Amino acid sequence: MSEHFDLVVIGAGPAGEKGAAQAAYFGKSVCLVERAPKPGGTAVNAGTIPSKTLRETALVFSALRQKGLYGVEFHVRPDIGISDFMRRERGVVETSWRLIEENLERHHVVTVQGTAHFTGPQSLEVTRHGEEPRVLTGGAFLVATGSHPWHPPHVPFDGAVVIDSGDVLAIEAIPARLIVIGGGVIGCEYACTFAALGAQVTIINATERLLTQFDHDVSDALRQEFTRRFGIHSHLGVDVSGIEVRDGVGHVTIADGTTLVAEVVLYCSGHEGNTAGLGLENAGVATNARGFIQVDEKFRSSITHIYAAGDVIGFPATASASMEQARVAVCHAFDFTYKQAISGILPYGVWTIPEVATVGMSEHEARARELSYEIGKASFEDNVRGQITGETAGFVKLIFNSEDQRLLGATVVGEGACELIHLAGAVLAFQGTIDYFIQAAFNYPTMGDAYKYAAYDGLQRVQARIRKSGGMKTRN
Ligand SMILES: Cc1cc2nc3c(=O)[nH]c(=O)nc-3n(C[C@H](O)[C@H](O)[C@H](O)COP(=O)(O)OP(=O)(O)OC[C@H]3O[C@@H](n4cnc5c(N)ncnc54)[C@H](O)[C@@H]3O)c2cc1C
Repeated sequence: MSEHFDLVVIGAGPAGEKGAAQAAYFGKSVCLVERAPKPGGTAVNAGTIPSKTLRETALVFSALRQKGLYGVEFHVRPDIGISDFMRRERGVVETSWRLIEENLERHHVVTVQGTAHFTGPQSLEVTRHGEEPRVLTGGAFLVATGSHPWHPPHVPFDGAVVIDSGDVLAIEAIPARLIVIGGGVIGCEYACTFAALGAQVTIINATERLLTQFDHDVSDALRQEFTRRFGIHSHLGVDVSGIEVRDGVGHVTIADGTTLVAEVVLYCSGHEGNTAGLGLENAGVATNARGFIQVDEKFRSSITHIYAAGDVIGFPATASASMEQARVAVCHAFDFTYKQAISGILPYGVWTIPEVATVGMSEHEARARELSYEIGKASFEDNVRGQITGETAGFVKLIFNSEDQRLLGATVVGEGACELIHLAGAVLAFQGTIDYFIQAAFNYPTMGDAYKYAAYDGLQRVQARIRKSGGMKTRN
């Protein structure tokens, strides 16, 4: 016997939860299937929340925030393990589970625990050990099954010495030495968190820069801080030619023949969609070579009533984007005239030490598009709040149209950057100019005050350029 719902959602991560709640809010009958015993997906159970809690705990335990300010040095006890740090994480995760479960209950979403796979375009079978399979049919489906770290065949993952981002929470002690392979978001975040916990960290990246998606001044600032604060060794623009585990220790050989040794090697190099075993072929849904479902701008797969959102569709693969994609997908599935498109102004945050955040256009993008732009920059070195807290690393950078001063984008590097960036996001959303920052009164002393000085700097650069060109405005 089958049970029918207006919408069947697979996966209770950020995308699945928000998509399910959105449809139920507008009166649809919704069933949410999750294979794990608890909801939250990677965000709650393995990625976003644990890594951010570990970072925060590392900052507190290592007293990194106070280091040097009061003439006292703090060090983390060497016998402290991840589990000591994760005590706080347990509390945060349990609260997240409760909040998700309450949200689903409040919206009368029916939850089913088990592994779902399509048996046809309109039907799913849900299996759970020791139980009869349950058959669900749906008017529409939302696939929100997430992704998992990609395992290239030449990397000898063993979950203890050579690990991926999903194994980090299971390692027993803070390694004396850690090699991180991959200078993207996850690699950089864990590199500095572990360095704050006292590990000697080496980061290896195939490209010349960390966080290649950002402007060069961002990766320069980050690399400088990694060296200055933590003594992290960076091998950039370097390929790894071999990884071996010998005598319980990881050996990583790089292209010039050097072999680096560490107790733990963290390999962070891309993800694959969680689509294997999902029976998508029975429903006629197409995936690409990395197992990601291909969707259109309405988040519709190749089969019109089957939608997909979140990490299972690939880039940008953030919890923040996943939730919005799912809401938009469901609005299209049922013709709700509520949320037709995901905001074009998505902030992007990286919880490195210091944090990095961006919204809108980068300088690199403005240049590539041959726009008439200017930048304005203010350093936290010159910010009083930064001086008080000791958080002087980083800057606020505004990218704006040099003709009419309309804001095009902003980047912030520094503690609190992921919060600070929202102000620039709001100015962008309202198509504001950098004049907003000049006119606005900021609390003093705050890091946010740096926006005003970045705007002044921008205006001065425009004036300087006008003077240089004899009073004529020129293109960049
Ligand atoms: C280390 C790390 C740090 C991160 N930090 C951030 C951050 O700071 N900010 C941010 O925005 N994002 C961050 N992310 C990314 C974020 O975690 C993901 O983008 C987000 O979890 C994706 O949500 P999702 O709902 O698409 O998938 P997931 O959260 O992966 O959820 C998918 C769910 O589907 C279930 N499932 C899979 N297959 C089946 C099946 N066949 N049947 C039933 N259930 C199934 C899974 O069990 C899982 O619960 C981080 C990721 C990692 C790994």
